[in-house]
Order: sequence, then structure tokens, then C-alpha cells
Amino acid sequence: MSILPIVQFPDPMLRRPCTPVTAFDTALRRLAADMLETMYAAPGRGLAGPQVAVPRRLFVMDCTWKEGTPSPRVCVNPEILATSDTLVVQTEGCLSMPGVPARVARPDWVVLRWTDLDGARHQARMDGFEAVCAQHELDHLNGRLCIDLMPEDARLAVSPLLTALGTPS
Ligand code: ZN
Repeated sequence: MSILPIVQFPDPMLRRPCTPVTAFDTALRRLAADMLETMYAAPGRGLAGPQVAVPRRLFVMDCTWKEGTPSPRVCVNPEILATSDTLVVQTEGCLSMPGVPARVARPDWVVLRWTDLDGARHQARMDGFEAVCAQHELDHLNGRLCIDLMPEDARLAVSPLLTALGTPS
């Protein structure tokens, strides 16, 4: 396994919609293992394909390892099937925008469907931080960043932090 470089904002790679994974092979297995290792080393709780310069529809997440109970998930070709009507506001961080806190409102639960590395389909309802994480990572696969969901005034407030990360090339 190896730790991959994390693509940093405002790299245009982060804005590219990703294409579905079609081959469930050893290369995909290795990529997922590397993404998990990269996420743990960062340290973070989620990492999506474009963040390691792979424009494919997969992400890894583990919302509990920092509390001492690892629960790694690899979600390939994920889809959100249902969401709550109620929204919750939480502060999100992104490994591609270090030091930029994003206060974002999202549905507080989602039903996620995904495929695992063996090609088996799964479906689960996710709540709380796990729901936030899954939505944040799925957005990456569509070229969307958490700052896009911030109200205008809040985004203006963090714009100096974003500028410090660099300007779009
Ligand atoms: Zn992110």
C-alpha cells in the first residue's frame, strides 16, 4: 500500500464529474487500499477518487476510527436513493481544502446504495456524521465541493482562507 498525494483546491481535477467504475479487478482493490491508507494518514474520515487524481466513482470512508473503532467502507458507484426532509447544519472539513471550515446544511439521513470491491450491491440508511460524510464524498464525484453549499455570506467569510490555498489555474 502507499500514501497518495491529495489533490488540493483549486485544482480543476476537483471539478470534473467522475465516470462509473466498470472493472472490479486487482487495480481497483489496490486503489481502494491506497485511498484508505491515504485517508488515515491525512488524517481524515473520507476520501473520494478525484482527491487522488482518479476521476472514477468511488470513495472510502471511516467515521469511527478516530474514536478507536475502525469501520472502513469502500463505496463504488454510490447513489443516494432517499434523503430526510429535515436538514442539519454541521461544520465539514475537506482534505483538499485544509483549514477551511464549511458550515453546511444537509439532510440528516440518507439511504445510500453502493457496490463493494467484490461487485456485491449494498444498501443502508446512514445517520448523523456518517450521512454527512457520505453526502460530502458523493458530491466530490460530481465535481461539487462543500463550499458550494455554503450561503453567500459564509462563503465570503472563508474566501481569504480559500485564496490562501491558491487561485484556479
Ligand atoms: Zn472533501
